[in-house]
Amino acid sequence: MTDAPLRPAPQPTRDSAFFWEGCQRGVLLGQRCRQCETFRFPPRPMCPACQSLDPEIVELSGRATLYSWAKPVHPPLPMFPPGNLIALVELEEGGIRMLSNLCGVAEEAIETGMPLEVFFVATASDGAVHQFRPQARPGGKA
Ligand SMILES: [Zn+2]
Repeated sequence: MTDAPLRPAPQPTRDSAFFWEGCQRGVLLGQRCRQCETFRFPPRPMCPACQSLDPEIVELSGRATLYSWAKPVHPPLPMFPPGNLIALVELEEGGIRMLSNLCGVAEEAIETGMPLEVFFVATASDGAVHQFRPQARPGGKA
């Protein structure tokens, strides 16, 4: 059991359960309003643009740009890998911003606005979470 991930598992709510189930399947899912087609995050029942209670769950591209980032210094967090970076990313779809981790890039190479792509890592309790890394082919379509 020494290979079991230490990263804490997500704690789904009624509104966010679909998002975490998508992470387990390796798919980034989002909510889009059926009435006005506005994307929203975090998941919630009501559209912030038109107050509709009729969202649809859609698969997102997983492409984003780095909006901001931070390096936690203290206290050490043994459940996360060394050098863990926190990222606020802006998704390609409708300016959705979400918190995640930034991986696969040296600190000195990080630039706000850099193109990123999603990937997923396992957590404790057979969960999974979304992470972001530099796009293999910036600007390319999947
Ligand atoms: Zn709406």
